[in-house]
Amino acid sequence: MTINNVWVFAQASGGVATTGTLELLTKARSLSSKVTAFVGGDASAIAASLGEYGATKVYATGDLAGKLPGVALSAAMKSIIDSGDTPDVIMFPQNYEGRDTMARLSVKLNRTVLTNNIDIADSADGVVATTPIFGGNILVAAAFSGQGPHLVSFRPKSFAAEPAGASSPEVVAVAVPDLGKQGGAKVIAVHTEQSSGPKLDEAAIVVSGGRGLGEAGNYSLIEDLAKLLKGAPGASRAIVDAGWVPYSYQVGQTGKVVKPSVYIAAGISGATQHMVGMKGSKNIIAINKDKEAPIFGIADLGIVGDVHKVLPKLIEALKSRS
Ligand SMILES: Cc1cc2nc3c(=O)[nH]c(=O)nc-3n(C[C@H](O)[C@H](O)[C@H](O)COP(=O)(O)OP(=O)(O)OC[C@H]3O[C@@H](n4cnc5c(N)ncnc54)[C@H](O)[C@@H]3O)c2cc1C
Repeated sequence: MTINNVWVFAQASGGVATTGTLELLTKARSLSSKVTAFVGGDASAIAASLGEYGATKVYATGDLAGKLPGVALSAAMKSIIDSGDTPDVIMFPQNYEGRDTMARLSVKLNRTVLTNNIDIADSADGVVATTPIFGGNILVAAAFSGQGPHLVSFRPKSFAAEPAGASSPEVVAVAVPDLGKQGGAKVIAVHTEQSSGPKLDEAAIVVSGGRGLGEAGNYSLIEDLAKLLKGAPGASRAIVDAGWVPYSYQVGQTGKVVKPSVYIAAGISGATQHMVGMKGSKNIIAINKDKEAPIFGIADLGIVGDVHKVLPKLIEALKSRS
């Protein structure tokens, strides 16, 4: 066994730890009893939940005062490592800040990164990370050689977030070192997309629409159904590229990975790049007028029919019940 000390790059949104952070902490505590959450910001509101999911210690930089997160956090991580707390593994989420920080830290430490993973193990071969390729049809296991810190990023939903029980981790303030010329860029505004209802990658029910809807105006059928089911609306890339809905709605290889209890795909053919983002859903319902559509190959319930007829009927039935 080679993993004794694991760090998790922890993030918060709206004053709570993100689900992705809790997923990584859950996995981290299965690898080591020494788990540190590294927070780029103030950790006071989230320290308890980080502890509940496995963090025994929390490093927190406090407010970054507009510094670019990747620049500041990689420098802060490097300074702790230089001072003697050297993790064997640092787990990052596969998102903008996670990847940016990991890449910069890789350069500072001269260490390899493995990105886009779905699992990690401490084995006789060392630390082994698993990456899906070719739309998830092949899993590649890659072992790090040499000393850590090994830098690894994970796709969302790779692990289930499960609390371990209440605990109060030690919170240690970390100073961001002088960033020199790298600190020249400042974040001057952050735009958070307004949305109501559950987040796409956290919703228990997702209703996604594709090109089979015919035109942008028909996407309201997807939104209405999602709202009635207290779910989140999603989309295939075809209708994102067509400008019908924003990119944040996209499910798939280059969009979000979702694993809801119920995934409804309406007018979506089931291209590999779409399915890789939703095939982990517990129950898949597909509505498509082509009975040969590939989406039916992974559907638990298939409805061969026209979305313009099926969706209004479903909406009407749900409305009459509520
Ligand atoms: C590198 C790369 C990355 C990609 N990443 C993604 C990704 O992240 N997510 C993603 O979704 N795609 C992605 N794609 C695109 C993907 O390959 C498909 O082109 C896309 O998913 C197709 O979207 P669609 O199913 O809505 O459209 P289509 O493939 O055009 O399918 C429309 C479906 O609607 C059905 N239909 C038509 N009319 C009706 C009707 N009235 N009622 C019922 N059914 C009807 C048709 O039978 C058809 O099956 C990627 C592609 C590449 C090359």
